Amino acid sequence: MLGYRHAFHAGNHADVLKHLVLYHCLRYMTRKPKPLLYLDTHAGAGAYRLEEGYAAQNREWETGVGRLGARLPEAPAPVEEYLRFTFEFGRERPGEFPGSPALASRLLRPGDWLILRELHPSDFEELASRFSGDPRAQIRREDGYSAMKSSLPPPSRRALAIVDPPYEVVSEYDRVVDALGEALGRFETGTYLVWYPLLERPEARSLPSRLSALTERPRLSGELRVRGSSPGDRGLAGSGIFVVNPPWPLESVLRSSLPFLAEALGQDSSADWNLRIP
Ligand code: SAM
Repeated sequence: MLGYRHAFHAGNHADVLKHLVLYHCLRYMTRKPKPLLYLDTHAGAGAYRLEEGYAAQNREWETGVGRLGARLPEAPAPVEEYLRFTFEFGRERPGEFPGSPALASRLLRPGDWLILRELHPSDFEELASRFSGDPRAQIRREDGYSAMKSSLPPPSRRALAIVDPPYEVVSEYDRVVDALGEALGRFETGTYLVWYPLLERPEARSLPSRLSALTERPRLSGELRVRGSSPGDRGLAGSGIFVVNPPWPLESVLRSSLPFLAEALGQDSSADWNLRIP
């Protein structure tokens, strides 16, 4: 159950899509003065050294963020802005790539706060030590889905929650649907980001429509496929991000970024993108 280590995958195409969306949501949402709650139900270690340890083993980042450095001059503005942010982070903390908590903490303001949940003991330790001096952060080694119940709605009634599970077990798909349904019941105006893998298995294929059926609120999903896949394929051919109550620039961010990312990160002729707005 706790075999997954995000360091193996840090900086890959799925991280690029997810973090691009997270970056632009937070950039927009932190323009309004009212405090914002950032809830990360599956936080990971916070940030990752790409040239060391697990990240250096399969070097997934080389076909993700690594490929984009050389394409910076041609990148659409939203991708360029996210990449510059990432490279700046890597200059200040040499060799590090920001995971979702590190990315968020840079964009959030002193009056905002972060609730971070991570179950893996080693990743939790790393996360906790990274945030030990940050009074805005509440970090627990607890189930992230339960935080969606206990921390929503926040007193300021402004929140962005990101749900980024490893989907190692098939029951995870139902848990995500149940947790989002419950969170929307408690707080329907929050912004929710749910990452999902593009896999052949039926539970993965039906997830976006099951999530969409939970609410009539504005929502969209952006998908990036980097290669073709076939039944039984265990690699990750692509991923998507489902967003409820997307900040208004997000649709145009995805419209300009997805075609570029499919071309720049594509590994075969099946590389493609998709933007669904019900
Ligand atoms: N969101 C991170 C990022 O973008 O940098 C990556 C997270 S990774 C995909 C998923 C993480 O969820 C893993 O570190 C795993 O240990 C953790 N995890 C798995 N099940 C969990 C649960 N029920 N509650 C909290 N964390 C969990």
